[in-house]
Order: sequence, then C-alpha cells, then structure tokens
Amino acid sequence: MNAFSGQYIGINGGTFDPIHFGHLRPALEVQLALGLEEVRFIPCYKPVHRDQPSVSAEHRCAMIALAIASQPKFVLDKVEIEQGGPSYMVHTLQTLTKRYPAKGLVLMMGTDAFAKFDTWFEWQTILKLANLAITHRPGEPIPQSGEVGQLFKKSWVPKLTEPFGQIVDVPITQLELSATALRSYLKQGVCVDYLLPSPVINYIQQHQLYQE
Ligand code: ATP
Repeated sequence: MNAFSGQYIGINGGTFDPIHFGHLRPALEVQLALGLEEVRFIPCYKPVHRDQPSVSAEHRCAMIALAIASQPKFVLDKVEIEQGGPSYMVHTLQTLTKRYPAKGLVLMMGTDAFAKFDTWFEWQTILKLANLAITHRPGEPIPQSGEVGQLFKKSWVPKLTEPFGQIVDVPITQLELSATALRSYLKQGVCVDYLLPSPVINYIQQHQLYQE
C-alpha cells in the first residue's frame, strides 16, 4: 500500500483556562517539525475527566483568538462548544474526519495527558481516526508499561506515513507552566508577565478574570 500523501492537520485540544506559552510554543514546534498544514485549537466545552473550567467558553475562546492572532497556521475551532454537552475527543474527531475527508489528523498531547489516555472515552477508536503527536512535559515521562506503554510500543513510528493509527513523539522546548499555576498567581495578584501573551493578560485584567 502506498504511504499517505495528503496534508496533516494538527488538533490541539484543552481547557485553555487560560491559554499560555506552554500550549502555544509546543503547538508551533509540532507544526514545524511535522509540516502540519494548520493547527486547530479546540477548547472543550465541558471536560469529562477534570474540574469544570473557571471561566466561560466565550472568555476562553476570546483569549485563544488573541493568543494565536499572529500565527497564520493557528486556527480557533469552536466545534466542541457548538456541539455543547460533555466534550469527548472521539466525537470531535468523528466530526473533523467528515469535515476533512482527504486529510490526516494529528492529535497533539502532552505526556501528562497521554499517561491517562486509556481512561479516555473510546480511546481505541481515537487511533482509528487520528495519529498522536506526543510532546514531553516536565516531570511526566512516557509510560513504559500498562495499556498506554503497550500502545506506544506498538504504534510508535519515527515519521508519520498514514492518516491515522500512528504515534510520534516530538521533542519540544520544556516549559514548566500550567494553567493551574497561572490561575493561582492571578488570584494572588502575582505578576504573570512573560508566562502568557500580553494581549491575553490585558484581556484577563479588563474582564477581571481569575480573581476568585
Ligand atoms: P490545567 O493546569 O488547568 O490542568 P494545563 O495547563 O495542563 O491546564 P490544558 O488546557 O489542560 O492545560 O492542556 C491541554 C494540553 O496542553 C494537554 O495535552 C497538555 O499536555 C498540554 N500542555 C499544557 N501545558 C503544557 C506545557 N507546559 N508543556 C507541554 N504541554 C502542555
């Protein structure tokens, strides 16, 4: 069988509560390393595996739009917000494969998310819809055993050649940053300059977000 010759689209899902440089820089490095046609930032509406976001979907989308405005290959995609209800990645990918039948999808994921991948709803189906690009996150190694370790060993490839079903790991600049830490800094009134884009900081201040 011939290798897939179409373009790949990157899928960057998360709560983005708020978006920060630990989301943005890895996305750019993956886009460049894999030659992705674009990276679609998909904020979840109602996450199923964690606490609900602190601010509304509208605010999270507005902050993403400000953060990615200068990157032509970055796109805000509100598919999960428009769908409403609990956000399951498998459903999102089903929608996207219908929308882009000729493209390969590459779901980006930090090692923290990948370590729990076998708890995701219909995780085996996800690999039938997309490839995975795993990025190392400080203090979070790639699992060597268990379901996720087995999956990594079985599906890892040095370079993507198929529209779905493969896993690559992409070296990225390590940024020890989390939205949880940022929300805590903002609540305490600690300066967050240089941890997230300044238009996002301005937006947070303007709308008095993350104060409680
Ligand atoms: P929270 O602290 O609220 O859990 P977060 O900062 O981990 O948020 P999410 O929106 O939950 O951000 O993460 C979405 C995706 O971004 C996940 O795949 C996660 O691994 C990745 N990610 C977040 N922060 C980093 C970082 N500093 N370096 C690499 N990947 C990251």
